[in-house]
Amino acid sequence: MWGMVKVLYGSDMYRRRKSREATTTVSVLAWFKTLLLAADKMPDTSDFIIPAGTKRDVYTWYDQDRIAHDTLYEKCSASFFNNIWSRILPNVKLRKYLRFTKCCYCVKWRGTRWSKQATTAQKAEAKEKLREHYSYIKCERAYGRAKQNQAIQEPDKYLSIAIDGCENLPHGLPHFPEVHAQHSIIPFIVVSLVISHANYVCIYIYLT
Ligand SMILES: [Zn+2]
Repeated sequence: MWGMVKVLYGSDMYRRRKSREATTTVSVLAWFKTLLLAADKMPDTSDFIIPAGTKRDVYTWYDQDRIAHDTLYEKCSASFFNNIWSRILPNVKLRKYLRFTKCCYCVKWRGTRWSKQATTAQKAEAKEKLREHYSYIKCERAYGRAKQNQAIQEPDKYLSIAIDGCENLPHGLPHFPEVHAQHSIIPFIVVSLVISHANYVCIYIYLT
């Protein structure tokens, strides 16, 4: 049955390897696209910030999703994954802590993870705690994003709003460290911003 034997010459093997690599590249990029739905987009750059401690953590997330959804994602090594990331998605970056403020939980367990005094068991525990924490954050953000999407798609049925206030300048104006509060003008106004994800942005200004 010699006719059934396919002999792979060098160029065939090269083509097959390249084809496999292309498929895996698409798989990794598709996975990142889903991840970025729950990432922080920087308002002034094209950067996306993901709440992972290390690139190895991100690869572990990919590999866990690949195992959970084996028809969706292709298996690849950490070095292949990182190579795609740095070549095609250099604007996806790691953040040390959560946005807006340092999360005490992250600070505590990251401290243990990178501590020279911590034992191997303590570091392993910290790594697992952080993995669970990041997974929880991803789910929370995806949940929030899903609500925003519902409000945008069906604005008559759902409302999704975000409200945030500007700093009230407790030391008054001018706002310089060398100027004491008693020599400043203390503003009596408060500014709050409201975003309805479906359709509008409002600025509320009121007197205290
Ligand atoms: Zn945290």
